[in-house]
Order: sequence, then structure tokens, then C-alpha cells
Amino acid sequence: MKYIDHIYMNGHFVAPRGTDRQELIDPSTREIIGSAALGNEEDAKLAIAAAKSAFASFSKTNAEERAAMLQRLNDAVLERIEDLAEANILEYGAPRMAAVGRVKLAAANFLDSKEALEQFEFVRYIGKAKVVSEPVGVIGIITPWNASYSQITAKLGAAIAAGSTVVIKPSELSALQTQLLTECFDAAGIPAGVINVVNGLGATVGAELTRNPDVAMINFTGSTRVGKEIRRASIDTMKRVTLELGGKSPNIILDDADFAKAIPAAVRSCYLNNGQACVAGTRLFVPEHRLEEVKKLAREAVEALKVGLPSEADTVLGPIVTEKQYDQVQHYIRAGIREGAELVVGGEGHPAGLEQGNFVRPTVFAHVTEDMTIAKEEIFGPVLSILTYTTEEEAVTMANNTDYGLGAYISTTNLEKASELASRIQAGVVLINGAGFEMKAPFGGFKHSGIGREYGIYGLEDCLETKTITGFD
Ligand code: NAD
Repeated sequence: MKYIDHIYMNGHFVAPRGTDRQELIDPSTREIIGSAALGNEEDAKLAIAAAKSAFASFSKTNAEERAAMLQRLNDAVLERIEDLAEANILEYGAPRMAAVGRVKLAAANFLDSKEALEQFEFVRYIGKAKVVSEPVGVIGIITPWNASYSQITAKLGAAIAAGSTVVIKPSELSALQTQLLTECFDAAGIPAGVINVVNGLGATVGAELTRNPDVAMINFTGSTRVGKEIRRASIDTMKRVTLELGGKSPNIILDDADFAKAIPAAVRSCYLNNGQACVAGTRLFVPEHRLEEVKKLAREAVEALKVGLPSEADTVLGPIVTEKQYDQVQHYIRAGIREGAELVVGGEGHPAGLEQGNFVRPTVFAHVTEDMTIAKEEIFGPVLSILTYTTEEEAVTMANNTDYGLGAYISTTNLEKASELASRIQAGVVLINGAGFEMKAPFGGFKHSGIGREYGIYGLEDCLETKTITGFD
């Protein structure tokens, strides 16, 4: 059994004031594997006070000192790569290879922030004015469960690069991973009070961060629903907010694309992190006259993916994070069937032999129309919806016909056409022909997918205030 009894503030692991605990559950077996102490509003207040007090000196550190800290944070995370990966496997059911990759990605965020810090001009001269970028103040970092390590390190890296101090409220569903990651932060020798981590619920610790006058900014990743609540709660204290929210990303396959490559890639993009990814390409748009071919390729691609225990080396898709989320995915699969979509592969229930955990049958629907629930709502599971178009104009219109605007994917052999389509799609990130993400480039959403940008120089800028000073001439 694993017991987590402490939160982290002012450079120490301490028992929280909060007395509630939360069970830790293995998603592969639904067995209880331990419990974690939950902080409350009082803990959040104390952590904010520690961060505020540390800000006075930390905001005066120079870029070289902070770059050295970011390097140490990267090293400290890599030092514990095996432990962190194990926790990711146990708590999320991530397949081993994915877990190791995820930790490396999380550590690399610190190096990207370091590079941004080294390139950034904190003082510029414009006409007769001296323009200075200063750290914004205490930042409240609130993160979701689906990519806990990298969400936390991206936001923490940007804050440290800027010279801001933080209170981190990670998802209560990632308490085990949070504990280990916090031990890495502690080992990196960052001044006391710069990093504070309070495990707790959104309604208590999260809400305190969003209304506390000593928090200058909230850097949030999570659902659009909670993002809106946070923006509302932040108004009275005029906090700056960076919001990375949900998505329903389109994937447009043009007629000239290499379908044998593009369709399996589309399936993989939708099933990224078992479909529990904000940028999952969940709406696949294909030319109407190619539908039968697409269905065949999609079915073959899905059948080649192994759903299994995270511990098995060839597993590609593990369990869904919680039973509640499993039920939610089942609800959407039933909605697809009920509303008349054609089930190409997958469907309701568990895959054979995996009845004990939150395992879902990877599913593809065809003949999906724009008014269906599965085409509109974020499912957060391995469910791909195929829609058809007759003209490219229609494909772009349908791609944009959503409140979301996070990611978009295009497949075509005509790069000029891809560039033209990319300019017409309302999304913060457009990936062409299976290209990967550039982690130093900005990431964020249009429309209800968010406000602000993360990563690299854009992430750093989001954590800075700008001051113009004149009169030196
Ligand atoms: P969630 O919105 O339920 O929770 C996110 C965090 O907010 C958690 O730490 C939660 O405790 C906290 N919270 C909840 N209510 C709060 C409140 N009233 N005040 C302050 N904090 C509160 O999201 P989730 O289920 O953990 O994660 C999945 C969601 O995150 C999906 O919608 C997904 O698209 C989104 N997401 C977005 C990105 C991105 O970069 N755009 C990345 C990953 C996940």
C-alpha cells in the first residue's frame, strides 16, 4: 500500500491542516492501492503566504541563477526516471514505453524554459523608453490528471524562468506522481518557498488559489467547464489567466493524401494517451467517395493495436484513468449507436479478458453527422468519429464548426494546399502529414480551447509583466 501524508511548502514536507484523504486506485484492477492526504483552503493560504514571502528575493535573482536552477530541476527529474515512470504506470495505467517517454518530455520542459530564459530580452529600449519585463508575482498552477508531469513542469519551468514563485495544485487523481515529482523539486535545491505543492480538491485548494488576492496569475490546464469557472472567480482580484482547455480536434484527409499512411496515423492521433488527450484528433474528415477504403484501413489499424495490461511490453492502450471516466466513454459509445452512427470496430464493454479494470474497446464510428453527440463533445477516450465531405470548402467549414479550437491535422501531398487550409482553420496548433509537436513553439487554443500560450518564449512571456520607464534621456 502507498500512503502519502504530506504536502510541500516553504521547502518542507509537512502534514496538511486538511484531515480528509483520498483513495488511490489502480485503473488496471480497480483495487485500492493506498491513500493520500488532501490539503484544504487553510493549506492553500499558507502555501500562498510562503510563495509571496519567497517572491521578494526570488524575483531579484538574475537569469544565470535561474537558468542553473532549471538545469538542476531537469537533472533531478531524470535522476528518478524509473520511479516516476512506475508511478505513471500504476496510477494512470500508462504503457511502459509511453511512461518513460512522458518523464523525459517533462524533464525537457525545464531545458526549453532555460533556453527561452537565455534568449529573452528582459530589458529593451523603444524610442526614449526603457521597457522592462518583470515577474508577474505568485502564480497558481492548476493541472489535470491526463499529462500531469509535463503539465506541471511546463508551467513551473516558465514561472522559474520569469522569476515568479508558485503554488501548484495538481489533479487529486495524480497524488502518487505528484509526491515523486515534488521530491525531485525538493532535491534540486531551489530556494525555500519558490515551489509549493498542495494536493487537494478543486473546490477547496483550487478555488482558494483563484480568489486569493496574493495570487497574481492562474496558469490552468483542464476542462473548458472548469476553465470558465476559474476565469469568473479570478475577476475580482483581476488575475491574469492562462487557460489550456479542452478540444475536439479535426483531422482533414484530402483526396490526394497517402491513405495507407494517413488513416493509421489518424487512428493513432485520436488514440493518443488512450484518447485522453486534449489534442486528440477525434473528428476525421474524409472524401465521401473514399469512405469504404477509409473504414477498412481504420479497422485494420485499430485491430493491430494491443489493448492490455500496462506491464506487458507490447501494450499500446492501457486502461482509462478512473471508473467514472470509463463509464463516461461507455456513455458516448452508446450515444453513437443510439443516434445512428455505424460502428466500424470496437463498441460497448470491456475487451475480452480485461474485464477487471477500466479497459475500453478502441472504437471507430462512420456515417457520423455533425449534430451527433460524439461529433460535438469531448469524449476523452479512444473513440474516433468519421465524417465525410464532398468539397474542401465543406471540410474546412465542418472542421471549424465547433466551440473548440485547440489542434488540427491535415494530410495531403500538396504542401501549398496544406498551408492554405492551415490558414483557414481555427486552431492553435496545426500538424501536417503526421508531423509531431515542436515543444519550444507556442501551444494553446482558439475559442473555447483557451487563452494564452505555453512553452518556450511564449510561455515565459505569459508569466511576465511589462513596465515602461521614460525620463533617462
Ligand atoms: P478538470 O477541469 O476536471 O480539472 C483540472 C484541474 O482543475 C484539477 O486539478 C481540478 O482539481 C481543478 N479544479 C476543479 N474545479 C476547480 C475549481 N472550481 N477551481 C479551481 N480548480 C478546480 O480536468 P481533468 O478532468 O483533470 O482533465 C481533463 C481535461 O483537461 C480535458 O478537458 C482536457 O481536454 C483538458 N486538457 C487540456 C490540455 C491543454 O493543453 N489544452 C491538456 C491536457 C488536458
